[in-house]
Amino acid sequence: MDSISGAGAQDEVAGLLSELIRMDTTNTGSTATSAGERAAAEWVAGKLDEVGIGSTIVESERGRASLVARIPGADPTRPGLLVHGHLDVVPADPAEWSVHPFSGEERDGYIWGRGAVDMKDMDAMVLSLVRDWARTGVQPDRDIVLAFVADEEAGGKLGAHFLVDEHPDLLEGCTEAISEVGGFSITVRDDLRLYLVQTAEKGLAWMRLTAAGKPGHGSFVHDDNAVTRLCEAVARIGSHRFPLTLTPPMRQFIAAVEEAYGIEIDPAEPELALARLGSISRMIGAALRNTANPTMLEAGYKANVIPGTASATVDGRFLYGEEQEFERQLAALVGEGVQREWLVHDQAVETTFDGPLVDQMVTALKAEDDGARPVPFTMSGGTDAKSFQRLGMRCFGFSPLRLPADLDFASLFHGIDERVPVESLTFGVRVLDRFLRSA
Ligand SMILES: [Zn+2]
Repeated sequence: MDSISGAGAQDEVAGLLSELIRMDTTNTGSTATSAGERAAAEWVAGKLDEVGIGSTIVESERGRASLVARIPGADPTRPGLLVHGHLDVVPADPAEWSVHPFSGEERDGYIWGRGAVDMKDMDAMVLSLVRDWARTGVQPDRDIVLAFVADEEAGGKLGAHFLVDEHPDLLEGCTEAISEVGGFSITVRDDLRLYLVQTAEKGLAWMRLTAAGKPGHGSFVHDDNAVTRLCEAVARIGSHRFPLTLTPPMRQFIAAVEEAYGIEIDPAEPELALARLGSISRMIGAALRNTANPTMLEAGYKANVIPGTASATVDGRFLYGEEQEFERQLAALVGEGVQREWLVHDQAVETTFDGPLVDQMVTALKAEDDGARPVPFTMSGGTDAKSFQRLGMRCFGFSPLRLPADLDFASLFHGIDERVPVESLTFGVRVLDRFLRSA
């Protein structure tokens, strides 16, 4: 590409992000107490309408709105590319923050607020870019389908899941998709940054464990206590270290880290070496094995009454291809006398780091950062990619951000003082401009 437009997009991206943050789209997990997704979707529709891009808003439940728009490509024979982002955010407590989490304030070169990195940043980058394209007459090569969706932070049932199940026609022809969480940089040295492109996500297995026992008086001799039985199972699970399993993206990732740092990583204990990546290693490290972390406990109502049942919630995550093995290992840990039921269960997804789309990502990143080295990785969490993959799309986490070397990016996700550098946003717009024109 000889000329870069996108100047208008770079000018307005930070402002659009601030406006989006000011719309409180907190997803509490319940429609009765969640707000703002409808207003945010209508705001996006208005911003698209201003430049002549039509869109469709659909609702799964009252107020749980998602928006889809299609920008026709120059070559109608090519399949579409889906660019999706969620509009909802997790709750934030203003008392804990340096700025109000729904202020969208610009301070010290950053835009602050809930959603600044997860993921109103990408929403604003995409929105500013397509507005600029429309104003300057840029047409992408293939159809670009935009989806701004509800409910990602509660598993996507009322957002991406709903779109895939009830309105697949809006996504017709899309064979590939980009969204969160990936495309951000880790600085190795001044002239070398790894850009982590997500090609895989672990599956979700949130479960409730319930133990039953004999209820009775807390002062008596008692050998059938539900609380004791449950806690033994919970402790076994919580202290268990699942075996190391190197999936293809993580093998590639480890090889890239070895090369970038000029080190050799012990394949039996890669966590030790990955710790040098800083706080991101907590996320990366979780993609080297299945995990199960106890998160909630419930039992009893009085100090001297032994309850008849006790229950716990466990957040389980399994790697692609590891679902059955995970369940087998888990069953052994749960043991006798404790029932297990799934609360949320969703697939792991994985694609390969190759092909023309990946080549375009690499080219676009290198054009904007000559020290860029893109590498695939597996995300420990889940995103809406799990839904869109069901329509046969290859899904990538590619929301490009060149980050300052000392920024603790991982801790900003769902974190206090979530914020994003304005320079990272304008970088992202430039990369997306190059990438989406010709992807
Ligand atoms: Zn997110």
